[in-house]
Amino acid sequence: MSAFWTEPDFDDHELVQLVHDRASGLTAIFAIHSTHLGPGGGGTRFWHYADPAGALRDALRLSKGMSYKNAMAGLPAGGAKAVILADAGRRKTPEMLAAFGDAIEALGGRYVTAEDVGMGEADMAALARRTDHVSGLPVPEGQAGGDPGPFTAKGIFLGIKAAVAYKLGREAMDGVHVAIQGTGSVGGGVARLLAGEGARLTLADIDAPRAAALAAELGGEVVPADAIMDTPCDVFSPNALGAILDDSGIARLNTPIVAGGANNQLARAGHGAMLAARGILYAPDYVINAGGIIDVTLEYVARRKGETCSVEDVYRKIDEIPGRLRTIWQESETGGGSPDAVADRMARALIGRG
Ligand code: NAD
Repeated sequence: MSAFWTEPDFDDHELVQLVHDRASGLTAIFAIHSTHLGPGGGGTRFWHYADPAGALRDALRLSKGMSYKNAMAGLPAGGAKAVILADAGRRKTPEMLAAFGDAIEALGGRYVTAEDVGMGEADMAALARRTDHVSGLPVPEGQAGGDPGPFTAKGIFLGIKAAVAYKLGREAMDGVHVAIQGTGSVGGGVARLLAGEGARLTLADIDAPRAAALAAELGGEVVPADAIMDTPCDVFSPNALGAILDDSGIARLNTPIVAGGANNQLARAGHGAMLAARGILYAPDYVINAGGIIDVTLEYVARRKGETCSVEDVYRKIDEIPGRLRTIWQESETGGGSPDAVADRMARALIGRG
């Protein structure tokens, strides 16, 4: 058996910890990549892994991604992630959540959790009964916090507009054709904002009725999930799965722009260069999809000071996303490498690992 710190995904993580609570059956992994800019912020994933090594890989990879995302969003937060290893039936009990809350508390604030796949607002509220180091809690309307999805969607919408202006020289979205993969919380929100400005939509979801219902509401077209990446369009917006931009995925694209919210869209680092070689402008995922983490981090920071933060403050910070993307694209064009490489370099400098 090899040591985890020899894994390719290990990147000088500050802490990697396994937590097991016999009584509740909780097994979880904490990975804190960096606290250079503040407490390690990042969601908890509740997932069944056929191979537990996959859970460790996820924790290592996702926590590093959070360091980059939080740094590039200008947040006072480092990067971390937790993974709870669910059983095949993905049973989640109050006892398990209580034990997990205690484990977060034991880290003394070095890790601040939020929602991720398999964890919702109600789970955050349950954790908050055991620890203060939780974000994304239900909040009154008008205050930062709660469901990060709509804030993520807003940042992506602004990023798509910036990409369309940068690459196509079009300032208005009227008639711009956007193909959206995944019509859930994020993809659905992006579609609504785009429709509000007259964009033409093609939608796809493996949950076909979900895409059809959204198309009926907004007036878009629907294609089967396996056809969306071939759709000729002005913007391809991935808002479902990661690792879709691999050799064959990139070869299928029929678009000048890829800009969407899915995490870890590039299957490997080299795929960013492959997109650039095809003349496709790429919006680095962790830069364009930071709206949600901006929301919950500002909520947490305000609550720790006994204050509240308004959604207007969250939107002001989300408004910085397009400018950040433009800086990346300009540096890329002037010899800095592909946009993902430029973003990674900027992020590493910000966390003191330049
Ligand atoms: P969600 O579960 O609400 O929606 C995802 C949708 O994608 C679902 O409708 C699902 O049926 C669909 N889908 C899954 N596989 C598909 C496929 N192969 N083709 C087409 N559709 C498919 O999730 P979400 O919160 O909207 O998140 C979407 C993506 O954005 C994820 O990669 C997530 O990690 C990322 N993200 C989300 C947030 C957030 O605030 N929710 C923040 C940052 C990044």
